[in-house]
Amino acid sequence: MTARIAHTTTSGTFSLDGQTFDVDNNVWVIGDNTECVVIDAPHDVPAIQKVVDGRRVVAILATHGHDDHVRAAPALSEAVGAPVLLHPDDHVLWRITHPGGQPDGELRDGQEIHVTGITLHVLHTPGHAPGAVCFDVPELDAVFTGDTLFAGGPGATGRSYSDFDVILRSISEKLFALPDTRVVHPGHGATTTIGTEKPHLEKQIAETCGRLLRPATLELGGKSAAIVLDDADLDLAEIGQSATSPSASAPPRPGSARLGYGPGRVRHPHLRRQEPEVPA
Ligand SMILES: [Zn+2]
Repeated sequence: MTARIAHTTTSGTFSLDGQTFDVDNNVWVIGDNTECVVIDAPHDVPAIQKVVDGRRVVAILATHGHDDHVRAAPALSEAVGAPVLLHPDDHVLWRITHPGGQPDGELRDGQEIHVTGITLHVLHTPGHAPGAVCFDVPELDAVFTGDTLFAGGPGATGRSYSDFDVILRSISEKLFALPDTRVVHPGHGATTTIGTEKPHLEKQIAETCGRLLRPATLELGGKSAAIVLDDADLDLAEIGQSATSPSASAPPRPGSARLGYGPGRVRHPHLRRQEPEVPA
């Protein structure tokens, strides 16, 4: 029986660094009529079980340890009798969601997961999270990228345990080494291809570097602020809070409203803040 890819989307929240966002997560199930693997376990065990449809689950593979991807993993594991596998560099994130618990096994770069005659090759792609991995499946011309690569660019790196330079290296060295035809199935949002994403990423890098190099004026809520861009690791929320004091005519003064838009400032395209970013 030929392997196929099944999919559903579940809804819930992602929380880190004291902030909570509403998110829709993709769940990818790869297998034939008898057995399968499940990539990520977000939010809704019955919804995932519906896609599994009674098949034997070889393993539950976590692309990384953020709570929106692993919160339901122990319950799904219990329900389908399959081990949860996670790269050990993300145990630190797992413990935030499941204190005292451990995943059942590990994922390592170069590891192979076999299901129904096909092979998932584990690519360690740190950056969005230290233990983020992708699963490349040449037989299906598909790669499952979690939150490392989306349609439109790399995953967010503005929160704890993330690193923008590292995710760029992971994407260029591991993912862009795959054929351009490879279909990218991400952890959130639409499917894309490696060939489609290559120019997007180059453009984003150029824009990010440009923002690092010059003073600028930031306009928010009808007020503008002279700012000096540096690579300080400030969050978007801090930009909203800081941008209300200086007048439009004030020249850029280092230290007056120092805002970072350096590495780590790439906004997650699939997060919806529960609180307004700029208070009314
Ligand atoms: Zn994530």
